Amino acid sequence: MTERSKEPGGTDAAKQGFQNPVAGFGVTFKAMFKKRLTEQYPEQPKTTAPRFHGRHQLNRHPDGLEKCVGCELCAWACPADAIYVEGADNTEEERYSPGERYGRVYQINYARCILCGLCIEACPTRALTMTNEFELADSSRANLIYTKEQLLAGLEEGMVDSPHSIFPGADEQDYYSGLVTHAAPGTIPQRAVSKGEKPDSDESGRGGVPEPSAQRPGAAHLGERSGS
Ligand code: SF4
Ligand code: SF4
Repeated sequence: MTERSKEPGGTDAAKQGFQNPVAGFGVTFKAMFKKRLTEQYPEQPKTTAPRFHGRHQLNRHPDGLEKCVGCELCAWACPADAIYVEGADNTEEERYSPGERYGRVYQINYARCILCGLCIEACPTRALTMTNEFELADSSRANLIYTKEQLLAGLEEGMVDSPHSIFPGADEQDYYSGLVTHAAPGTIPQRAVSKGEKPDSDESGRGGVPEPSAQRPGAAHLGERSGS
C-alpha cells in the first residue's frame, strides 16, 4: 500500500479526481447533440416574427397618393420625441394625398426611437406602419434621422408617384372605403413646386393634372357608385 491510500479519505479523493473530468466531458458530449444556438449573421440574416417592430414605413393609397395627412398625432404619441412632422395644404396643382392636408416634412430619429409602436397606434389613417427591417445601426447620428423620402413606401403596380391629381369623381372617403384601387388611366406625376421644381409652362398649364375627358373612362366604378 502506498502512503497516500493510508490517509483518511484518500480513496474518496482519488475517486473524485477520476469522476470530475469524466463529468466535465459528459457535459461537452451532451451539448454536441443539442440544437445549435449560433447564428451566422449577417451571412444568414435572421427571420423575425411576423409582427416584429422594425423600421417604419409611410404607406400609399392604391393609386400612389400618400396616406399621411400631416396631423402630427404620431409625433404627439411618441414617448421618445423621435418624430418630427410638418403638415401643409394640398393644391390641385400639387396634390400628395386625397384630402386637404399632407405631410410635407416627415422625419424619424432612430437614435431616439425605441420601436415601441405607439406612433402607429395613434395614426388615424394607417399611413404609418412598421416593417420587419431591424438593420438600423449607423456610425453617424445624422444618418439615423430618416426623412420622408426614405420612409415612403415604394410604388406598386397601378400606382403613380405623388404628387398627382385625385382619382376623377372620387373624394377622400372613397379612398378609405377602398373604392380607388389603382391610378386613373392617363395620370401623370405633377411637378413638385414646393420642392423647388417649376411647373411646365409649355404643357397644358394644368400643372400635370390630366384633362377631365382623359380621366373619365377610369372612373367608371366610382361614377356608378356616386350616381346611384
Ligand atoms: S416606435 Fe415608439 S419611440 Fe419609435 S417613433 Fe414610434 S412612438 Fe416613437
Ligand atoms: S403618419 Fe399618421 S399620425 Fe403621423 S402625421 Fe401622418 S397621418 Fe398623422
